[in-house]
Amino acid sequence: MSRPQQITVLGATGSIGLSTLDVIARHPDRYQVFGLSGYSRLAQLLALCIQHTPQVAVVPDERSARQLQADLRAAGLNTEVLVGEQGLCDIASAPAVDAVMAAIVGAAGLRPTLSAVNAGKKILLANKEALVMTGALFMQAVRRSGSVLLPIDSEHNAIFQCLPQDFARGLSQVGVRRILLTASGGPFRETPLADLAHVTPDQACAHPNWSMGRKISVDSASMMNKGLELIEACWLFDAKPAQVEVVIHPQSVIHSLVDYIDGSVLAQLGNPDMRTPIANALAWPERINSGVAPLDLFSVARLDFQRPDEQRFPCLRLAREAAAAGDSAPAMLNAANEVAVAAFLDGRIRYPHIAQLIEDVLNNEPVVPVNELEAVFAADARARELADQWLSRQG
Ligand code: NAD
Ligand code: MG
Repeated sequence: MSRPQQITVLGATGSIGLSTLDVIARHPDRYQVFGLSGYSRLAQLLALCIQHTPQVAVVPDERSARQLQADLRAAGLNTEVLVGEQGLCDIASAPAVDAVMAAIVGAAGLRPTLSAVNAGKKILLANKEALVMTGALFMQAVRRSGSVLLPIDSEHNAIFQCLPQDFARGLSQVGVRRILLTASGGPFRETPLADLAHVTPDQACAHPNWSMGRKISVDSASMMNKGLELIEACWLFDAKPAQVEVVIHPQSVIHSLVDYIDGSVLAQLGNPDMRTPIANALAWPERINSGVAPLDLFSVARLDFQRPDEQRFPCLRLAREAAAAGDSAPAMLNAANEVAVAAFLDGRIRYPHIAQLIEDVLNNEPVVPVNELEAVFAADARARELADQWLSRQG
């Protein structure tokens, strides 16, 4: 039998990170943990190090590093501890590493994920924001390094499973008419519009079907998550925005579909549990046990579909507009959204302000070409600055 694959999990203490480690722990013969990173939950990172014995762990600052190092020694482990963004890039690109789970949330995951791409690693991409921000540059880097890019987002993983393996020849070449991207509609799918001004962060994070980190939970409530996923799908599958239709499917059992020119529509179904796409990508092109219970169609009983209402979900329209504008627009959209969601979670703004802030930022800044990474970071920084000014004006 071949040696176990060495895996780095960026964002190990998060929802996706923990699900990844759950799948890995079921297959000690196939996978070994090389590197783990954490950011704020350092006691949890220590516990994960004790359980998975990585060679390297990464924390955000020197003080946490000294603490973790001491705790690791006391537990009898000689895990090396690295610090900050450079440490993240190091565990993402280390020669011993075969595959990297990119599961840091937001723009903070961009450099480490690109570092794994540039080193030609197999990339399990959960950190959709990294691809949304850098689009063409990211895909060029993947092609240049020969890295294998596998989607973890359940929708994109479903689409990937429903496409033929040679889809990179072009969607029309392989007979695809369109991609149907499913969305649950989140917790506010039926909330009276007038009540949306009063919803709380905890209500926004109480997703009906999925348990996720708080930022993506708010994105799911606003459907900005689906907007980011639309842009993500365009890059992953070389689709035009008009080829991607969003379909609300409240049960979250169908994870997305591909519509072919002969009238066939292929779908991937399963219980809403991220361990399925994670196991699929880890073992691809083989299949392994993920720990997810088999789907019981009799208890699901019915599958419903609705067209999304753009009045209820203005963020979906803003994302479509940014996808059409291209260049710096998706990076600005993403950055403004990150600031707005953080402000909403902190109780500084109300829920409808999220879309208003993003729209004002995008309307007040021209779209510029982004031919290099520095231009993406400049667009990201400018959008954050405008978003902060918007928040200050709100008082
Ligand atoms: P989470 O908040 O549960 O975890 C985020 C992880 O990132 C944590 O390990 C945290 O320590 C780390 N982190 C946060 N800020 C950081 C920073 N500034 N620097 C370094 N590390 C930092 O989030 P999640 O739900 O696991 O989502 C992670 C990513 O996966 C997101 O991009 C999300 O969109 C994507 N995703 C998540 C799900 C899901 O079901 N949770 C599904 C699809 C895609
Ligand atoms: Mg998704």
